[in-house]
Amino acid sequence: MSNQNIIERDLSVLWHPCTQMKDHETLPLIPIKRGEGVWLEDFEGNRYLDAVSSWWVNLFGHANPRINTAIIEQLNSLEHVLLAGFTHETVIELSERLINMTPEKLTRCFFADNGSAGIEVALKMSFHYWLNMGKKNKNKFVTLQDSYHGETLGALAVGDVALYKETYKPLLIQTITAPSPSGCYAEQGESYKDYAIRQFQAMEKILAEQHDEIAAVIVEPLLQCAGGMRMYDPIYLKLLRKACDKYEVHLIADEIAVGFGRTGTMFACEQAEVTADFLCLSKGLTGGYLPLCAVLTTDNIYQAFYDDYETLRAFLHSHSYTGNPLACRAALATLDIFEQDNVIAENQKLIKAMYDATQPLKDHPHVGEVRQQGMVVAIEMMQDKTTKTPFPWQQRRGLHVYQYGLSQGALLRPLGNVVYFMPPYVITEGQIHWLAQVAAEGINRATSQR
Ligand SMILES: *Cc1c(COP(=O)(O)O)cnc(C)c1O
Repeated sequence: MSNQNIIERDLSVLWHPCTQMKDHETLPLIPIKRGEGVWLEDFEGNRYLDAVSSWWVNLFGHANPRINTAIIEQLNSLEHVLLAGFTHETVIELSERLINMTPEKLTRCFFADNGSAGIEVALKMSFHYWLNMGKKNKNKFVTLQDSYHGETLGALAVGDVALYKETYKPLLIQTITAPSPSGCYAEQGESYKDYAIRQFQAMEKILAEQHDEIAAVIVEPLLQCAGGMRMYDPIYLKLLRKACDKYEVHLIADEIAVGFGRTGTMFACEQAEVTADFLCLSKGLTGGYLPLCAVLTTDNIYQAFYDDYETLRAFLHSHSYTGNPLACRAALATLDIFEQDNVIAENQKLIKAMYDATQPLKDHPHVGEVRQQGMVVAIEMMQDKTTKTPFPWQQRRGLHVYQYGLSQGALLRPLGNVVYFMPPYVITEGQIHWLAQVAAEGINRATSQR
């Protein structure tokens, strides 16, 4: 079985996500036969270091023996059962563990089967809460510039990445977009913190003027991933939490990508010491094995739905695979690894290695910024760093880095002109330094053309 053989079969039947399929006339698909640890291997024995954790999901490597064993055990007792009217111990244990490891106010878990679906749950629950409280007009959501919350219509509507959203605008619910708090937009000499405080004024104004019509503000805490790995100071979340309380608006924390250690702490909200009204967790939740999303919320919100059936106040939302036992078991095995291996503390060494390895890139003539938030480091290529002029998107400079990385055995999949590492936590310091070398050479090549 050769790579070519697999590619031909694929291209005759598949339609790939987030892809202009015509690109594959010139850009070969990479067929993967097996994975182990940080490595992915194709059908001819070539290996790729998965520096993007297979789209930010993988935490403890591919084919992790501990997660594998847990899933197999679960498989031998119960693969799936509906979660309406029925329950199982695995989903109960996972809910207990999630509630124990998050702030005290979060006391309830609702499950969905992927991140976007979980966002829909949070949006619907927030709106419905206000409806149940007699506030019919609270039907708008506030979102941040550059935010990303998924691709289903509701999730897309509360996102702000034009590339994914613009085409579908006529189909989307109305949202209010507040300007970005991300420090990459700060003035020369202005700190991330000062910029976040300054940018919060616009958010405060929106809430002050329109809170009667606003159900919730939704944010990716500290790190906006798909919008270009943009980072902001925790002060923004502190100010936002206060304002949400003052104006009676929910705060939805989308930690689908940033949860489970990516920002250096278990959850990003910890760094701002805030508790959201809805906390959405997915991606790393199952260690990158199976699709699952948990939406955690408060007793206050839960109680607003708890009533006699005839009042029709219940949250009648469901997905076929809600609380799937195999996915929940993978999540429990993932949480075990966090505990047993003291992962958050151990990751500090990797965080430092990522910092040290990428510092030299700051001086590169076409690198506008090197920014890091915990286990994520991003290197933004720019045509002119003094004027912060980006390369025209049509030039697809990031794609050159991607192709160079593959030729060296590194899976780096830039977001536009932003090259980043978000590796599984089983990466070594040596591998991080090697990745940085590959990225540096890829950036040299990508920025010296034309
Ligand atoms: C990936 C992502 C989602 C959507 O999750 P899917 O499982 O891909 O639907 C939502 N929010 C954030 C912040 C994400 O990164």
